[in-house]
Amino acid sequence: MKLTILGSGTLVPSAHRGSSGYVLESRSTKVLLDCGSGSTWKLAHAGINYMEIDHIFFSHLHPDHTGDLVPFLFARKYTEWYPYRGGKDKPLRLWGGEGFIDFFNNLKSAYKEWIVPEGLDIEEIEPGSFDTGDLKITASKVPHIDSSLAYRIDCEGKSIVYSGDTDYSENLIQLSQDVDLLIIECALPDEHKRKGHLTPKEVVKITNECGAKRIVVTHFYPVSDEENVVEQIRKNVAAEVIEARDLLEIEI
Ligand SMILES: [Zn+2]
Ligand SMILES: [Zn+2]
Repeated sequence: MKLTILGSGTLVPSAHRGSSGYVLESRSTKVLLDCGSGSTWKLAHAGINYMEIDHIFFSHLHPDHTGDLVPFLFARKYTEWYPYRGGKDKPLRLWGGEGFIDFFNNLKSAYKEWIVPEGLDIEEIEPGSFDTGDLKITASKVPHIDSSLAYRIDCEGKSIVYSGDTDYSENLIQLSQDVDLLIIECALPDEHKRKGHLTPKEVVKITNECGAKRIVVTHFYPVSDEENVVEQIRKNVAAEVIEARDLLEIEI
């Protein structure tokens, strides 16, 4: 599988870190994890055809994780006349936690059929496991907002976990046991701890307790870059530590 980072930043406008978005590609499936603002044009930068995305899994509904859903759906719906887009209409499934269907219906009451491409399906996920195509998905509640979910995806004998936004979480440790790649947020340095987000000390604890083989540290507020939180983590974990950068590609 291959992971492409579309956005490694937050809600803070940044010249080099966009809002959250990640693409996971297996041999037969393309998945978006969150779709924060800029994700749609970053797909183009990464050379990934927006028509070939099969699923979008949303960790939660904050705008820095959902802001490009409308442009993405608008592009999926209204470019069928455009001869160079490549790809063909595929089913598109959107997945989110509790309240996701309401959220989508509210968008739809503003944008009407403009954001309903052929083959669109909207699903709410309960914590637990299920299979879709070649993917085994496991969702687990994490402490950020009430409906926040972390996801584990098992496919082709490999595993990844995406923490979304979260505070310190035993659920996340359980979900990430011996995972090949853990995408974990580290929004803020230890001295700027805010409820609902992780700091380097907490990332170290979670990583060492779950036994992840590699971690991608992401969702940096600018102050986290200034204080080089990634180095603080790297010195204290057994796992290989990768600093997320926009458009970085990682083989899993
Ligand atoms: Zn966020
Ligand atoms: Zn959030």
